[in-house]
Amino acid sequence: MSQVLSATGSSHTEVAATHDGLPVIPHFIAGEGSGGTSDRWGTVFNPAVGIPVAAVPFADADEVDRAVAAARAAQSAWGGVSISHRTEVLFTFRHLLDIHREDLAGLVTREHGKVRSDAMGEVARAIEHVEFACGLGQLLKGGHSLDASGGVDVHELRQPLGVVAGITPFNFPIMVPLWMLANAVACGNAFVLKPSEKDPSVSMRVAELFLKAGLPPGVLNVIHGDRVAVDRILEHPGIDAVSFVGSTPVARHIYQQAALHDKRVQALGGAKNHMVVLPDAELSLAADAAVSAAYGSAGERCMAIALVVAVGAIADPLVAAIKERIGRLRIGPGSDPDSEMGPLVTRDHRERVAGYIDIGREEGATVVVDGRQQRFAEPGFFLGVSLLDNVTPQMRVYQDEIFGPVLGVVRVRTFKDALELVNRSQYGNGTAIFTRDGGLARRYQREVQVGMVGVNVPIPVPVAYYSFGGWKASMFGDSHMYGPAGVNFYTRTKVVTSRWPEPQTSELDLGFPQTR
Ligand code: NAD
Repeated sequence: MSQVLSATGSSHTEVAATHDGLPVIPHFIAGEGSGGTSDRWGTVFNPAVGIPVAAVPFADADEVDRAVAAARAAQSAWGGVSISHRTEVLFTFRHLLDIHREDLAGLVTREHGKVRSDAMGEVARAIEHVEFACGLGQLLKGGHSLDASGGVDVHELRQPLGVVAGITPFNFPIMVPLWMLANAVACGNAFVLKPSEKDPSVSMRVAELFLKAGLPPGVLNVIHGDRVAVDRILEHPGIDAVSFVGSTPVARHIYQQAALHDKRVQALGGAKNHMVVLPDAELSLAADAAVSAAYGSAGERCMAIALVVAVGAIADPLVAAIKERIGRLRIGPGSDPDSEMGPLVTRDHRERVAGYIDIGREEGATVVVDGRQQRFAEPGFFLGVSLLDNVTPQMRVYQDEIFGPVLGVVRVRTFKDALELVNRSQYGNGTAIFTRDGGLARRYQREVQVGMVGVNVPIPVPVAYYSFGGWKASMFGDSHMYGPAGVNFYTRTKVVTSRWPEPQTSELDLGFPQTR
């Protein structure tokens, strides 16, 4: 396969070729589609109908090497163009994303399954990261000290790292890649993206739009695949840094292997987020928030609420209010504007999530709503939502990241019990507290061992000009993602000390330079 263009109906990423009767989503190397040379393939499904829609080649080490070589070849020129030129490309890219919102959201819904409104929301949040990166002139400024010592000036240069790789999960197929590559490219790096093999088409569309916006070929490359491709990325001497978002076991592996190969690395992992509801909370506000944050996107969000911690007497009315709302949820294909929740991403994942209902019951939880009992007209990977009450910290349904529409309720007596419970969790991605008590909310945000905290906000994903990252097993590495932390991660600084002395003042001096 030579010039392959566009699996999505337009130019650079659709393939003329097929594999097993399915259209091929090619790699994207040096600005061109490339059909794949390994004999390993993945299948991309439309989860709403449960049928395959595309085949995706799994890159071998040689293909990764080609992508890295293309990135290296393009980087020095891109890193050397003016800030104003790079700014212009980013503004144009932002404009193209804006006018293609519908198309991008459609690709997300088709391969991920999330409902249209949710996909549009993801695209909107993705665009915010490009908007932040459009301010690269401000972001790349270094410090300058005039007369740091007699006749000596000191200034700081902020420079790109070189070639950066990003490895991303299935659940935010456009937003998470743009968390990374908007800033990385704005800072003058070249990028090799390895998106999730479950829903890769929207990454191809992003690459195509970036190219159209004026990004030189090779600055952004997309390769598809699994562990083989990732392991080659981790050891490749031509890659300077790795950004990862995905599950905790893989994040830990990425962090260790990338560091072993002398790379800068940030690896964001899984989560099990608690929403604490104090007895004084406004009941309907808390119940609406719990249902929205637990079942939105079928629970396939790293910031989803997986556990409600009901404090004291609010537990019974809260469980009743959540149950009542569950009865009103509309579950169906993401393309149907009436659907509020779509299917799960794959059949295997649906079965795994459904299996937790029996695990919970066997462990002693009360199954208030069993999502498996809901029947669906469509043949896709649908699962009704479930509610488990009387969950305790020893249970697997408490500890494991289920990553589906299963909400557990833990009952505790006091605020202090709730705080201690959350702080004992192995994860520390997001958390929320619902209360009218400003003092306790303030204490919670100060003492909780979690990276992102919501006060009467169930999904506190920071805006693009802050940074995102969890604590404990939810993140490995020193740098949070996007925003100011992202700019730091994708650049390194150099400090220049300079003097322009008169030649006649020159003299030998073997002492250590003094500043006074
Ligand atoms: P995943 O860990 O299975 O996959 C993530 C990426 O790693 C994919 O590109 C995949 O191809 C690759 N990968 C998978 N197994 C690998 C292996 N053994 N070696 C090397 N690479 C491998 O995650 P997922 O199922 O795609 O996404 C869901 C997970 O991501 C959840 O755990 C969720 O909490 C997490 N997530 C975290 C954040 C965050 O910001 N902390 C955001 C989104 C998702």
